[in-house]
Amino acid sequence: MIVIKNNNEIALMYAAGKIVARVFQELEQAIVPGVTTGQLDNLAAKIIKEEGAEPAFLGYRGFPGNICTSVNEELVHGIPGERWLNEGDIISIDVGAKYRGYYGDAARTFPVGKISKTAQSLIEVTRLSLQKALEQMWPGKYLSDISNSIQTYVEYKNFSVVRNYVGHGIGREMHEAPEVPNFGPPGRGPKLREGMVLAVEPMVNAGSWKVEVLNDNWTVVTADRSLCAHFENTIAIMNDGPQILTL
Ligand code: MG
Repeated sequence: MIVIKNNNEIALMYAAGKIVARVFQELEQAIVPGVTTGQLDNLAAKIIKEEGAEPAFLGYRGFPGNICTSVNEELVHGIPGERWLNEGDIISIDVGAKYRGYYGDAARTFPVGKISKTAQSLIEVTRLSLQKALEQMWPGKYLSDISNSIQTYVEYKNFSVVRNYVGHGIGREMHEAPEVPNFGPPGRGPKLREGMVLAVEPMVNAGSWKVEVLNDNWTVVTADRSLCAHFENTIAIMNDGPQILTL
C-alpha cells in the first residue's frame, strides 16, 4: 500500500530533507585527498545530531555507519572507516535522517580533486538522469514512466543502469511501497498522485549493469569493477509539480 502524505507531513519531510541537504553541503567541503571515509561519517553524524535528528542508516539491519560511503567501483552501502580518499577517486555518499518521525534520504557522487573525463561524464549523466525523472513526476503519470526515463537517458549516454537496487516510497518508514526501479517500459505500475513521496535513486555503471556484494556483506560493487555513480532525492508529487525535499 502506498501511504499518501498530507501537507503537514510533507512539511515535516521537507524539514528532514533540509537536514540531509545541509550534510551534503558540509561534506562537499570536506571531500579532499587524504580525508578518510570515517572522518566524513563523523562529520555527517555531528551535523545530523546538531539538527536534532537521527542518522537513519546507523543500525539499519545492523549497518555500522551513520552514512554510506562508496568509492569508485563501489556503488552503494560502503562502510565508512580508515580508507582515505585519493586525488582522482569518486565517492558516492548516501545520507538518511529521521526527524520528528519522518525520513529524508538522498545520495550524491562527488569528485575527489581532479578526476578523469569518464568519471566526470558518469557523474553528470547520473545527476541529469534524476532531472529527467523529475519531468515524469506529475499526477496522472505512471510509476514506471520514472523508471523508463532514467533508463532511456542513461543508455543513450552509453552507460548502464543497475537492476538489483531500486528507489522506494518514503515517509514514517525509510523504505515504503512502491519500489521505484531505474529501468523498464513506461506506462506500468500505479498512477502517480499528489501526496506520494518517492526516493528516486538512479545507480549508473560505466560498464555492465551487473553488481555483486563484497565479503563484508554490505558493500555493493560493479561486477566488472567499472566506475559507478548514485544520485538520489526524496521527492513529493504535488499537483503543481514535483517538490524536491532534499535540497
Ligand atoms: Mg534510498
